Parts: sequence; structure tokens; C-alpha cells
Amino acid sequence: MARNYHEPDPFRYSLGAFIQAGRSVSYLLQKEQAAFDNFGWYQSWVDEAKKDPVLCWLNDARTDVVHRQALQPHSWLEMRCVGNPRQPVDDEEDGPIGTKDPFMCTHYYMFTGPSTDHTHEFTRLWGIEGLKDRELLEACADAYDRLAQLVQEAHRRLGDRMATFEGMRPYSGEKSARDLPCMQDIMKHRVARTVIRDGKEVWEGEPPGLHDQK
Ligand SMILES: [Zn+2]
Ligand SMILES: [Zn+2]
Repeated sequence: MARNYHEPDPFRYSLGAFIQAGRSVSYLLQKEQAAFDNFGWYQSWVDEAKKDPVLCWLNDARTDVVHRQALQPHSWLEMRCVGNPRQPVDDEEDGPIGTKDPFMCTHYYMFTGPSTDHTHEFTRLWGIEGLKDRELLEACADAYDRLAQLVQEAHRRLGDRMATFEGMRPYSGEKSARDLPCMQDIMKHRVARTVIRDGKEVWEGEPPGLHDQK
């Protein structure tokens, strides 16, 4: 999810995959409940989870396909000029040149329009209905931590019968396919900055292979 923050469609698909993976955790647990001597602890977890807005959102997300309409009112993209010679020099900061359609990828804004002599900064925020005011990387990282605790609890209770739990490995040690960043890294993924190299504007630190650009 994090590496696709500036690619709206791949971001939506990976969010859908996250929702699906997140929900499969409790599904798998319920399927395997016979492996536990007592499953009451799981019901307690479910009761607690109902007080957690992020877990409620995950549970209520009816489909694994995230539609634009769900994101649209809660998401934004701001593009800012950095060092534009045609803006007054006494400006502390070069101003935002505006809020853009967040469903166009950042490359689109970099490569359309006239080539520039200055650089830009693109800041995005993805939010979704049902989770108002939460940024999605942060919210999903939160949900992921809670589900990981649930899985660890299951493993602890199963002890050496852990082997029956093929579908649910403890999350430490294994690289998550969801590549959720820790909190401090979130801004890094939300903001893209460009530099001028050989007269061309390029995205500094662009994740490789995001999308083919001519
Ligand atoms: Zn500009
Ligand atoms: Zn792109």
C-alpha cells in the first residue's frame, strides 16, 4: 500500500487486498476453533474489537473492491511549487498551486503541462468512508497490529499445536505483503518531491517500477 500511495488505482487494489487479508484472520481462527480447548478468549477479543473503529471498519467493509466513491470525499492531493522564479521572492514558502484530483497519479502532474524550471512537492492523503479523519496507512497499520496481536494470542494458546495453523504464521519475521510502514515513515510515503536533473523534472526517491513512463 505504502509504495503505491501516489498511484491511485494500485493503491485502491492493495487496500482491497489488505481488507480481504485482514478479514481472513478472524475467518481462519473461527474455522480452526476446534483446535482450542476453550474459545471464549476469542469472543472476548471480538467484543473488544467492536469498540475499535478501525476493526469495525474492516469488518463492515462489505466488499474487497474499494470504489473511488468511498475514497473521494476523504482524500486529497496538493501540489506545491518549490523555487518558482515567477513567484514573489518574499514569500516564505512558495504557495500551494492547488488541490488536484487525487485519482490522477503523481506522474500525470509531473509529465503533463509545460516543462518547468523549478520543482514540486506532492502531498497526498487517502481516507475512506467509515473511517473519517483517519489516514489510511496509519489506520491500516493500526488494524494490522491488532490482528497480529490476535494471531500471537492464538499461537500462545495453541502452544505446540501451532503446526495446525498453516494459514496464520506469526507476523514477526515474515515480511508482510502489505508493506505497512511504521508511523514515522508515513509522511515519507505521503509526500513526493521532485528535483531537476539534466533539465528534466524527476521524482526523487521514486519507488522503482511504479508505472511505465515514456
Ligand atoms: Zn510549479
Ligand atoms: Zn504514475
